[in-house]
Amino acid sequence: MSAILIDGKARAARLRAEVALGVAEIVSVRGRAPGLAVVLVGEDPASSVYVRNKGVATREAGMVSVEHKLPADVGEDALLALVATLNADDAVDGILVQLPLPRHIDADKVIAALDPAKDVDGFHPVNAGRLMIGQPALVPCTPKGCLMLIEEALGDLSGREALVIGRSSIVGKPMAALLTAKSATVTVAHSRTRDLAGHVARAEIVVAAVGIPAMVQGEWLRPGACVIDVGINRVVGADGKGRLVGDVDFASALPRAGWITPVPGGVGPMTIACLLANTLQAARARA
Ligand code: NDP
Repeated sequence: MSAILIDGKARAARLRAEVALGVAEIVSVRGRAPGLAVVLVGEDPASSVYVRNKGVATREAGMVSVEHKLPADVGEDALLALVATLNADDAVDGILVQLPLPRHIDADKVIAALDPAKDVDGFHPVNAGRLMIGQPALVPCTPKGCLMLIEEALGDLSGREALVIGRSSIVGKPMAALLTAKSATVTVAHSRTRDLAGHVARAEIVVAAVGIPAMVQGEWLRPGACVIDVGINRVVGADGKGRLVGDVDFASALPRAGWITPVPGGVGPMTIACLLANTLQAARARA
């Protein structure tokens, strides 16, 4: 038996097409396309690539993307002032501050300064709190995309045994909240968890968001499990070339899982598509 590969690229393309339709609708009602402001501080190469890709995807969906590039030594006050300006700008429906920020800037303070209605990353405490108590919220893009992939594979998640490995605020914790809201029975594992393999063995759904290459072994899996690999780890192969691998050992998981996301081409494409969906959601809520 071999797992069904979950095609994140194809699912993301469908979501992007749905968003583009929603954008056309809001333009016809409001006369203006949704606007996303992306703030990049410094010149970290990975962050610059993410910001460029987000800009391209936003424009492809028919939305307006405005990038604000600030020098690495910009003061926290100047960044907070830009956030305040974007909060007040009616043409801006979504604001994304690319993380990580330089060490001299308090990222929590910057996130807390965002208007929660424009917080398309879903990192503001108000959105995190709303997600926890089941109120409408802007939900972090990566777990939102993972949930879509899981539901597409399994349908109704009610009563399913789910294991989320990792408890970060951007992936693990919101993932656990989303699965709980779908009535799955959720376990959250982290660096202090004992007998991770034992937890994995019980899970019908495994979401791995750790950042350790190929940590989850295929033999640990419950046969037929739905495996969502969030990890993006750059490793050097035997041929000396760099390549990306996930947190799950793909080769040993493939014959045992029921469904599995590849890395790359699984969760990654969904993250950007969900950013577009969140921007549309924010624009609709403000319209
Ligand atoms: P963090 O480093 O913030 O969190 C990692 C989590 O893994 C922590 O909760 C940590 O536990 C836990 N952990 C560490 N070691 C172990 C272990 N041995 N066993 C079990 N749990 C462990 O990472 P992120 O959540 O930001 O990201 C996780 C991965 O997902 C990374 O590879 C990142 O690159 C990737 N990612 C991919 C995205 C995509 O679009 N595909 C988007 C975002 C992230 P503790 O809390 O105890 O320290």
